[in-house]
Amino acid sequence: MPVSEGSDFPVDNLPYGVFSTPGTPRRVGVAIGGWVLDLGAVLDDPDFRAPALNAHLSRGPERWAEVRARIVELLTDERRRPLVEPNLIPLDRVTLHLPFEVADYVDFYASEHHAANLGRILRPGQDPLPPNWRHLPLGYHGRAGTVVVSGTPVVRPRGQHLEHGAPGPVDGPSRRLDVEVELGFVVGVPTVPGESVPTSRFDRHVFGVVLLNDWSARDLQAWEYVPLGPFLGKSFATSISPWVVPMAALRAARVPGPPQSPEPVGYLREERHWSLDITFELELNGEVVSRPPFAQMYWSPAQLLAHLTANGAALRTGDLYASGTVSGPGPGEAGSLIELTWGGTRPLRLRDGSARTFLEDGDVVTIRASAPSASGGRLGFGALTGRVLPAVPRPER
Ligand code: CA
Repeated sequence: MPVSEGSDFPVDNLPYGVFSTPGTPRRVGVAIGGWVLDLGAVLDDPDFRAPALNAHLSRGPERWAEVRARIVELLTDERRRPLVEPNLIPLDRVTLHLPFEVADYVDFYASEHHAANLGRILRPGQDPLPPNWRHLPLGYHGRAGTVVVSGTPVVRPRGQHLEHGAPGPVDGPSRRLDVEVELGFVVGVPTVPGESVPTSRFDRHVFGVVLLNDWSARDLQAWEYVPLGPFLGKSFATSISPWVVPMAALRAARVPGPPQSPEPVGYLREERHWSLDITFELELNGEVVSRPPFAQMYWSPAQLLAHLTANGAALRTGDLYASGTVSGPGPGEAGSLIELTWGGTRPLRLRDGSARTFLEDGDVVTIRASAPSASGGRLGFGALTGRVLPAVPRPER
């Protein structure tokens, strides 16, 4: 298969998605170069004729590896050309759908730089990290039903918020709509109630990753979050990329994680603390405004899963858990506007002459990322994009 230099989808990536063409049903494919390979047509397996990836997710790592090896063979062995060629569809002719049915959705807060930045912005003069932050990965359960695929417009949320100096809250469109650049982990193999997943068993349960944008209404969030955490400020929409990049494609991206002190409690310990060398790009109306690095995330993907199940809560196929906003230590490495504009006090100047603190109606946010691939090149994750639509008027009582 010829794949052009710089493509997100070389043969050592092979991310899974769900696609359709006009008049044909949704089904599973993998991206290769500028094409989608129709898996249902080339593999004798009903899992790939389904409108979601969940059946394949549930099969587990041995089957995942078998299918991956078979796809590599199809795409690299000249003798397979008669089978493969008729089932390659140009990417620009397909519609991409939500790649899997999302079971439960959890969002963590695993970047020390993000957590400390928010502490400094929201609680100046105090310790930037909450006292429990280095002991456990903080998180909350979000709303699975409003996870949408890239390209889905996001309607500006409405709700109660407190305007500066006002005696009480108002109800209205959010005026501080923000983004959070994150990595989402897709769970394949479920567990039973009472079972927890040790850090060493991450690869037996997690199939792959998606890019994720945790749209956040900072004004709704600020008014509602004490003491029970994020609620309506987050639940209106979470966008994910259409391609699930398998963990198997990210082996060359595994790097040591940053030092952890104090040493975490037993169930959070790892034989080797690891992270992923993934660099994101956050684009606002076509202009890159930030390049958040994932490698320095304090809590590893395996520690997040171990913590998520530490109380015996069961996993389901299709569970999605997100890393939390990815922010690095440098300027231009933050994964949210609240950090990039320091709470809205330092507007971003854009090339078109405009300035932004938070998002305006019509703004288009795009997240991309890249990682080292097994062959020594780079692989990408496809684009995750969404446009902000104006708030919808609230019906009269
Ligand atoms: Ca988040």
